[in-house]
Amino acid sequence: MRTEFPEFRLGSVLATSFTATLTERRGDAVERIPTPQRLIDWLAVHGLDVDSCTTAQLDLARELRESVHAAATAAAVQDALPAAAVHVINDRSAQGRAAAVLTPEGRRRWRLGSASALEDALSVIAADAISVIAGERDGRLALCASPTCRAAFFDTSRSRTRKWCDMNTCGNRQKKARFHANQRRKRASAE
Ligand SMILES: [Zn+2]
Repeated sequence: MRTEFPEFRLGSVLATSFTATLTERRGDAVERIPTPQRLIDWLAVHGLDVDSCTTAQLDLARELRESVHAAATAAAVQDALPAAAVHVINDRSAQGRAAAVLTPEGRRRWRLGSASALEDALSVIAADAISVIAGERDGRLALCASPTCRAAFFDTSRSRTRKWCDMNTCGNRQKKARFHANQRRKRASAE
């Protein structure tokens, strides 16, 4: 039987979807790319197809992920960007040779090189992180209100008041917690 791995959290922003491959960072952390194959799977879901991934490349990917998380978190609270994180993001961005290609249907696809496709894929993610952190895109970086999560996410809602990184997980859990607290209060006052 195949081992079951944690499912991916999919979002519309590549860089923050990538940082969401590690969730509940302030609680019981869940690693969603525990093996090189799971990183390959994740990349495929995001249109970045690579044939192979070594454990060293998985380490490289996780280093980039944590750097994007650190820089995005700093940007969300308007702190100075951590120099080490910026360095890693820039290195990954510079070391890829991915090319954006326009399909006949008018969509963008990424063409990765054959020799170092994994590095090329990471460069696409790094470039996406740079555009988000640099404030080039329409939206606002914010931190998830869940105390066990605190993920940096990109809020593209019109009012820019989104509180949770993900409505179906963090948002829902918080709503349930509030509901149960209210029930307890009601019971206590009825006694
Ligand atoms: Zn969250």
